Amino acid sequence: MVRILLAAGHGAGPAHNRGAIYFNEGDNNYIYSLELKKELETYENIKVDLLRKNITDDPTLADRAKAGQGYDLYLSIHSNATTNDDVRGTEVWDSVEKPNVTLAKLICDATAEVFNHRNRGVKYKEGQKGYNWYGELRFNQAKSAMIVENGFHTNKEDCLFFKDSHKKIAEIQARAIASYYSLKKKAIKEDKPHWAEEHYNNLKSRINITDKRFDDKITRGEAMALVDKALDYIEKGGK
Ligand SMILES: [Zn+2]
Repeated sequence: MVRILLAAGHGAGPAHNRGAIYFNEGDNNYIYSLELKKELETYENIKVDLLRKNITDDPTLADRAKAGQGYDLYLSIHSNATTNDDVRGTEVWDSVEKPNVTLAKLICDATAEVFNHRNRGVKYKEGQKGYNWYGELRFNQAKSAMIVENGFHTNKEDCLFFKDSHKKIAEIQARAIASYYSLKKKAIKEDKPHWAEEHYNNLKSRINITDKRFDDKITRGEAMALVDKALDYIEKGGK
């Protein structure tokens, strides 16, 4: 069982925005985490938890780092900001303490591809020697811990794409994560219509058939009634 903790960045409402043009970053991170959870759960052998269970949850950085305990992956969800509104691109900040460049690169490449913008790559930021600068990654006990910056919300195209493409982005990120952990898609139960449905639909308006029971046996009496009705219909000129 692969255990994943999705850690939507910040809290809720305008106070937790970080200069995003079309959404409040904290709200969008949370709403996106729900979509990514849903997509990850289309794979077998996975358990996905949300760090922010409610949109208004706003754990401290230290509490976020602590929450990583027992997980294979702590994935922090953010969008990026800068003063130059032309800047676009995705980057992933991987843990200095527990680097997993393979997974970080898979997520970064997939995200940059779906946004169709610059791939800024996997990055590392050290605070004290050997330790993460980012508070939620520092001392995080998850086997792998990283922050994905899904485009720049200070850029119109990136911000709009993130806002409008949750499902698309979630699908491709879930696929990247699943490929790293070799997870298979759950089988989808198909609700195929019965082969006789088409005949039933054709007949019901013409000879007043109301009973489906497609796989029941027909009695001699029912067969006679059916043929009688059909002949009657033909003899009356199809009325
Ligand atoms: Zn952020």
